Amino acid sequence: KNCKIFTVIFRDMEGSLTARDRVGIQDFVLLDAYTSETAFMDNLRKRFNENLIYTYIGTLLVSVNPYKELGIYTKKQMDIYMGVNFFELPPHIFALADNVYRTMISETNNHFILISGESGAGKTEASKTVLQFYAVCCPSTRLLDNVRDRLLLSNPVLEAFGNAKTLKNDNSSRFGKYMDIQFDHQGAAVGGHILSYLLEKSRVVHQNRGERNFHIFYQLVEGGEDELLRWLGLERNCQKYRYLIQGECAKVSSINDKSDWKTVQKALTIIEFSEKDIEHLFAIIASVLHLGNVHFEASAHGYATLNSSAEVHWLSKVLSTDTSISIYHFQVLSPFTAEHAKYARDALAKAIYGRTFSWLVNKINESLANKDSTRKTVIGLLDIYGFEVFDVNSFEQFCINFCNEKLQQLFIQLTLKSEQEEYEMEGIEWEPVPYFNNKIICDLVEEKHRGIISILDEECLRPGEATDFTFLEKLEEKMCGHPHFVTHKLADPKTRKTLERGDFRLLHYAGEVTYSVVGKFHLMQTVATQFKSSLAGLTEILMTKEPWYVRCLKPNHCKQPDHFDDVMVRHQVKYLGLMEHLRVRRAGFAYRRRYEVFLKRYKALCPDTWPHWKGTPAEGVQRLIKHLGYKPDEYKMGRTKIFIRHPRTLFATEDAFEIC
Ligand code: ADP
Ligand code: MG
Repeated sequence: KNCKIFTVIFRDMEGSLTARDRVGIQDFVLLDAYTSETAFMDNLRKRFNENLIYTYIGTLLVSVNPYKELGIYTKKQMDIYMGVNFFELPPHIFALADNVYRTMISETNNHFILISGESGAGKTEASKTVLQFYAVCCPSTRLLDNVRDRLLLSNPVLEAFGNAKTLKNDNSSRFGKYMDIQFDHQGAAVGGHILSYLLEKSRVVHQNRGERNFHIFYQLVEGGEDELLRWLGLERNCQKYRYLIQGECAKVSSINDKSDWKTVQKALTIIEFSEKDIEHLFAIIASVLHLGNVHFEASAHGYATLNSSAEVHWLSKVLSTDTSISIYHFQVLSPFTAEHAKYARDALAKAIYGRTFSWLVNKINESLANKDSTRKTVIGLLDIYGFEVFDVNSFEQFCINFCNEKLQQLFIQLTLKSEQEEYEMEGIEWEPVPYFNNKIICDLVEEKHRGIISILDEECLRPGEATDFTFLEKLEEKMCGHPHFVTHKLADPKTRKTLERGDFRLLHYAGEVTYSVVGKFHLMQTVATQFKSSLAGLTEILMTKEPWYVRCLKPNHCKQPDHFDDVMVRHQVKYLGLMEHLRVRRAGFAYRRRYEVFLKRYKALCPDTWPHWKGTPAEGVQRLIKHLGYKPDEYKMGRTKIFIRHPRTLFATEDAFEIC
């Protein structure tokens, strides 16, 4: 038998065709050339071609959108993954969900799962899959079925109001979402809470070609009952509404607005929206459509005048307001130009929609709230945009990328901290890891009095004088010499060519991004400050929890199955910081396992430990690895775990095990 073992080890070292060569390895941490992006890509591609969309980096899950049904989310699959150790089955989102859940139960502590990736990469699907897993697998009672249904049904409602068809994704979430699922001490889901971030309100009044407004508008017009539409003064024809047709694609083949309307109605009822609530909600949605059709023309004096009063009449009806402002029976007129009036109209529409969305989230939270005061543990699900890098990057990308910079900082703090703690607990010497700490970039953006957001604030104290360009000049003055900030003026001649005058470039941890300040950057002060403080709030929420990560990758631009675009995936691997993550995880030891688990799996490889080992598991492991010929610098023995430095050591053992 021993002879066989060594033949296998020998064969593997020679690099013959093993299962690993065909389907790749299931954990990047075990990749020998772990610093090589090419090796990383090869492994990812190999697995994708075999329909293996999941791969781990330690406990982080990398997922590639297959754009086809793989039949891997069934109840049967859930059963397979329930209660099984992470590494004993092929990587799967259920394995992650199950592990988080079981850790929460056994350690009575709080967790969060951060799901990131670019638009269309599969974040929302992943978060729904996790929620589904908990809904099906956690213990429940009839009373709790209610909570479970509401948790599940909050999704279609929020998606109707917060998602839209874009060029990248027919069901793109246009807001960031954090959802807490609360569990009681028996592990039953008993409540929840949702926070939303950065709803893309501009979509209400403007959509690019090939994109739509938020789903709910089309659902209302297509699916709303005749009587409801009559009451709201709407026609069953999307083409009649300016806010619905700018993208010229009101109809989308993959979306059934009529049946989605029914789903949302049912969900609203189950989440306990009253009839009055629902009535008000759709009156407000209708008001936005009417508002969009209000048309202004310039009078002979250059002031805005209305060319028809029908829309204003409906507006006042559905919103229960007056058509005009009167003081002592005199109508008050505002001397706007037609341009100004349109701007004000659109601003009002965005504000109405934004507030309605916040109201909706609050209502859902009321219905998910758990009123009893016993101690709960939580699993948070964060579905948020990953780094965005386009040809032209504006204020929106700046916020999204800053958010990712903060999340990376959190990752560093939490991962390095827990690595260090584990080493200390196991009595193993801590070997410092070379890694890039992105705190310097977070400070560049958010530091008090000196960061970019502070400078934006200061510029806003000079209304009328400040412009995008004075803002940029201020930045140049303050940031001069900062290693992560470049502008046309500050760049050396070589990089200058690629920078426009109105641009600044940040060297993010994941790579460079050039932002254009042209088009209102300097007017975004309130949004930036609000966003900064809501991110600080989020960081605080996450900081006290144990982190788990799902990184979603999009295989191609055309939403096609079986097509792996190398350049595109490589770009995402870079901007999602996967190589950096791998480096931190690989620092020190590639593999660690509790003695009991290790011994149980491999004890057949040594006559002394097979079939029963009488001593302690640690002694058993010591005997086993001595027999296998592990060299002293290949491993370390901690208090409860064995730590193995290189994956090849483990592979040899694993192969030997398979053969025997
Ligand atoms: P994101 O939230 O990252 O923008 P979505 O989760 O909405 O992306 O996914 C976009 C589309 O990709 C989905 O509507 C679905 O068609 C497809 N998709 C995503 N994940 C999977 C998966 N695991 N299996 C099959 N199809 C998927
Ligand atoms: Mg999404």
